[in-house]
Amino acid sequence: MSQYINHPTISETEIIRPTRVEVDLNVLKENFTRIKKHIGNSKVMPVLKANAYGHGLVRIAKFYSEMKADYLGVAVVEEGILLRETGIKHPVLVLGGIWGNQIPLFLKHDLTITASSIDKLKQINETAEQMKIKAKVHLKIDTGMERLGVHYYNAEKFLEAAYKCKNLKVEGIFSHFANSESSDLTYSNLQLERFNEILSYFEKHSIEPPLRHISNSGGILQLPEANFDMVRPGIMLFGVYPSKEVKRTVEIKPALTWKSLVVYFKVIKPNHPVGYGSTWKTDHNVRAVTVPVGYGDGYLRSMFKKAKVIINGEKYPVIGTVSMDQIVINLEQGSAFNGDEVILLGSDGKNSITCEEVAGWAGTIPYEILTNINTRVPRVYKE
Ligand SMILES: *Cc1c(COP(=O)(O)O)cnc(C)c1O
Repeated sequence: MSQYINHPTISETEIIRPTRVEVDLNVLKENFTRIKKHIGNSKVMPVLKANAYGHGLVRIAKFYSEMKADYLGVAVVEEGILLRETGIKHPVLVLGGIWGNQIPLFLKHDLTITASSIDKLKQINETAEQMKIKAKVHLKIDTGMERLGVHYYNAEKFLEAAYKCKNLKVEGIFSHFANSESSDLTYSNLQLERFNEILSYFEKHSIEPPLRHISNSGGILQLPEANFDMVRPGIMLFGVYPSKEVKRTVEIKPALTWKSLVVYFKVIKPNHPVGYGSTWKTDHNVRAVTVPVGYGDGYLRSMFKKAKVIINGEKYPVIGTVSMDQIVINLEQGSAFNGDEVILLGSDGKNSITCEEVAGWAGTIPYEILTNINTRVPRVYKE
């Protein structure tokens, strides 16, 4: 299946949809180089869950394997299998939880499993024995997220159990920050302290420690003492900071532009409502254009009354509700022709609409904007 258009039979050259996401791989490369320089000797695991934060999992994974990233991270086993099926040979850690009956799939595809309880360790160990292979696991410690993993205060028993399992290779141990992108790092420091205490187990028992990792984008930017053996950047790879207040210690640039084209022009007469619910009405002649993107593509309906787009170097408002597949733009007295480019998110070189801005319109965070761009939108890559 072509990642380019997400359609099994239409070829890339036949691509006809005007709405698309363009990803600049040179920008990604520059961001990655800067992150690596910032963290020094630690390994890097680009986290590519949710279609690589909307950038297209398969192409982006290929990019990071070409960039010689040390490891790749995804959230669910299906994402890992897709990487294997498209020829990615890199180690891949599935960061999310597992169901017992998924374990054979992990092992068959050589995916590294997040082990988050003694029970799961045993299940993995048994399955590995039956399949006569060694299962690679990373042990997940909960230092304060209360989502997944063994509580820090029970971790010692968990570690003991892990090292007793004969069919496991304990390749890593990790935890996850709850607030590393905040300006107040008190809680992150507490989590770090708990993690460090657990890691002293290896020294105490003279065991060579496996890959130790805890830092996401917020940690990489603000907590250099949390780099350990590996870091797990997600959103910052793509040039978006994890929060407004986070210290911008690495300069990164957005790699994604979401574009469409003007496909229809009309003049709307006074007292004529626009769109579903007839929520917006003209009181004078308005020049307007229709753009083929909607909430079915991830252009969120909650941006109603706030969203703007860039056409021919000018910002214009979206009028009426966002439909599933279309929006209407008010040009007032401005002009645009069918086929003119519309920037929904990104920059035309002069003006820009940032991911933070769009998230603000929708009342959410940039993560949700990026991961909501539907797979229906073709991804195009600038090499
Ligand atoms: C999503 C995720 C990351 C990356 O987080 P960012 O804030 O996008 O850098 C790292 N580790 C785990 C376990 C995650 O789930």
